[in-house]
Amino acid sequence: MPIIIAETGGLPSYRSPLLAALPELVHGFFGRQGGVSPDPFHSLNLSFGVGDQRHLVVHNRDLVRQVLGLSALVSATQVHGCRQSLVTGPNAAADEEIPEADILITSQPGLGLLIKQADCQAVMLYDPVRRVAANVHCGWRGQVRNVLRETVVRLQETCGSRPADLVAAISPSLGPCCAEFRNFRQEFPPELWSYQVRPTYFDLWSLSRDQLTAAGLNPRQIDIAGLCTRCRGDLFFSYRREHRTGRQGAVIGLRL
Ligand SMILES: [Zn+2]
Repeated sequence: MPIIIAETGGLPSYRSPLLAALPELVHGFFGRQGGVSPDPFHSLNLSFGVGDQRHLVVHNRDLVRQVLGLSALVSATQVHGCRQSLVTGPNAAADEEIPEADILITSQPGLGLLIKQADCQAVMLYDPVRRVAANVHCGWRGQVRNVLRETVVRLQETCGSRPADLVAAISPSLGPCCAEFRNFRQEFPPELWSYQVRPTYFDLWSLSRDQLTAAGLNPRQIDIAGLCTRCRGDLFFSYRREHRTGRQGAVIGLRL
């Protein structure tokens, strides 16, 4: 399904039609536009870890929070792993993060789960039966570790979710046009080599979709934004294109 592009309060965001159809949810895949950070973080950088001024990042995060009507945003230091954190309340301070987690899960209304990315995928999952939301930092290292399967297992074990009930959305991220892995024989296990679309280029969007369906999701309940962050420098931060740059945010939460 095509994504919806909306602008609220000066912040363009990209919405999944599947998630946007659920009235109890708020979500947005934000781009680089609408914030206050200077170059090379111009302008809606949401990461404390790239060299930007902390008070500007706090300001940018607050803009995103306000646009979505949430009471707090919660994020973690992301490490390309499979560790999860069940989020039950806001961080103590606006510039604090949960240590070392790539999977955030919550059922608390008003709390937004923030994943920061610049080429990596953010993958949102939502269980409309149990009313539980998850947001996952899913780069190629996370795909090799199958962090999406791990997320579905966590939702089953922690929240009683059934995989067939889950709805998922894959963020703007590195597309098959730009996902080059010259050392793929060392970096990817052989079972992922079939995602090569031309020599050394990989379709990581299809890989995530297939990992989700293998974990039990209905393929019709998965949205792929289909926007490449490296190709669209006007809209997105891209690590591959710029190296020293900001991180955009993907946020999902239950409405207050
Ligand atoms: Zn591209």
